[in-house]
Amino acid sequence: MRLRYSYRLYPTPGQQQALARAFGCARVVFNDGLRARQEARAAGLPYITDAELSARLTAAKATPERAWLSDVSAVVLQQALADLNAAYRNFFASLKGERKGPAIGPPRFRSRKDLRQAIRFTANARFKIPPGGKLRLPKVGDVPVRWSRPLPGDPSSVTVIKDSAGRYFASFVIETEPGALPQTGPTTGIDLGLKHFAVLSDGRKIASPRFLRRAEKNLKRRQRDLSRKEKGSRNREKARVKVARAHARVADARRDFHHQLSMALIRENQAVAVEDLAVRGLARTRLAKSVHDAGWSRFVAMLEYKARLYGRTFIRIGRFEPTSRTCSACGIKDGPKPLHVREWTCPACGTWLDRDINAAVNVAKAAGLAVTACGAQVRPGFALAQRSEAGTLPGAT
Ligand SMILES: [Zn+2]
Repeated sequence: MRLRYSYRLYPTPGQQQALARAFGCARVVFNDGLRARQEARAAGLPYITDAELSARLTAAKATPERAWLSDVSAVVLQQALADLNAAYRNFFASLKGERKGPAIGPPRFRSRKDLRQAIRFTANARFKIPPGGKLRLPKVGDVPVRWSRPLPGDPSSVTVIKDSAGRYFASFVIETEPGALPQTGPTTGIDLGLKHFAVLSDGRKIASPRFLRRAEKNLKRRQRDLSRKEKGSRNREKARVKVARAHARVADARRDFHHQLSMALIRENQAVAVEDLAVRGLARTRLAKSVHDAGWSRFVAMLEYKARLYGRTFIRIGRFEPTSRTCSACGIKDGPKPLHVREWTCPACGTWLDRDINAAVNVAKAAGLAVTACGAQVRPGFALAQRSEAGTLPGAT
């Protein structure tokens, strides 16, 4: 399977200029290709094939108007076309209903004002990590890297990204063979919630860590500052950069937390079960949905691929009945339980039920897992995994 490993880059001013040129050239190639296809379509001509687009790029480089494209690695330009082709394929598949998830629109023009600029080098672009540990990029140079964790193999490609906060990253793709962890006994059901990030069927409740809550608070303050600044003023631009940085920090902190928690859960359990988020989404308010859904689905995606990577079982259950109404001890369905009802006693069997733990136990039961603790029990504490074990899916950075 393919895993992504991201590291911070610290290009020199000269390298930043070379990268800016490469971002610009890749953008022009992408936009030229998109425009050519749009014009062909408007003129009633057939779809321009990938090969034809590639040939046009080669021809364009020989013209005075586009000669400067030769200043950057040819692979970067070909990869920009590959991005365009992939965007079209996804769009067509979405039109035909061959893709799950939300509908995908046609490719859009890239802009120098986009919040994220990216270029990709493949192995045949001869990017290298020479002794000394810098990243050698063709026509850019040896860029300093902060190796926050070891790179566990030979990467097949590297994407160089500049984010809205002006930071640079290298995201390597590595093909790895899954290595199973030793078998273990426990299994767990997980309820993802608003009050706690996750509640486990053994009674443990996991809150977002303090470093994440602090970063979120900081982001809110920066956004408030920004909204008070006069439009078009220099101070507003400064505040905008601060908001972008705070945003990036929240995203980083959240990703770290997701990696640590998913790794700990996978290491500890032979099987994990979660509710299908698409199903549970119906029950929540729009605000909660917008804030939390993206984070939850990224976390669940991590659980899923780590389970595959380490030889564990991952089960996603669809919800056919509201898990909050069913007593996890005797299975009887009680009346509706509004959100403010946090705990109750089952009228049939007399078990005291905690709303979240009860739901987690029901998830585990629906997945056919053996449940190890009764619904009312609360166990404190949770050991989080080391950051070095974290890996990310393509696109999850
Ligand atoms: Zn009961």
